[in-house]
Amino acid sequence: MTGHTKAKLFIVSAPSGSGKTTLCRKLLGSGLGLVDSVSMTTRLPRPGERNGDDYIFVTDAHFRREIRGGGFLEYEENFGHLYGTPKAFVEHNIRKGRSVLLNIDVKGAMKVARAYPAASILIFILPPSIRELKKRLHLRKSDSDQVIAKRLAIAKKEISYKEKYDYRIVNDHIPQAYKKLKAIIEKEIRKGVGPS
Ligand code: 5GP
Repeated sequence: MTGHTKAKLFIVSAPSGSGKTTLCRKLLGSGLGLVDSVSMTTRLPRPGERNGDDYIFVTDAHFRREIRGGGFLEYEENFGHLYGTPKAFVEHNIRKGRSVLLNIDVKGAMKVARAYPAASILIFILPPSIRELKKRLHLRKSDSDQVIAKRLAIAKKEISYKEKYDYRIVNDHIPQAYKKLKAIIEKEIRKGVGPS
């Protein structure tokens, strides 16, 4: 029997500070064959972030040129900065049958799911509580108190989208949350493989 692979778009959203970056990094190194969609952003790199790896860091003018050129599958403004998913990369991988991991916000997630309803799998990562989220954001030491307060308000709004997602995972313990996330992805990839 000949099999064929239906590539999936795994769209992972979570409020910042929910451990999403750690979980996604583990996934990409897990041999599942997922490719990472590296977003473009106008925000500055945080310590340790690398251009082309965590994000493609660009100027506002560059980002706006990309918008005009139709280079984004979707883009949004978050915390005063622009973030967008490069379209060509996602489309190329889908055509090649490779599943893509997108780490984007709730509004972007809804747009991608609308553009690719059959391929999109929406996964929401929840922090154990708002209190814990606040603690994590302070520990990260990358934002001022004012920015943290803003991120928390946005987190509450983002969490209100969770019912629109196919899966929800509470990240109270990274190894456990990772196991759940990996199991979901393995299951969905298996579902996509079948007789042609
Ligand atoms: P951070 O600045 O903490 O890396 O990201 C802020 C928010 O922007 C997060 O919710 C992150 O998922 C989201 N984000 C990152 N890249 C994209 C993108 O390409 N599109 C959209 N819509 N959101 C993104």
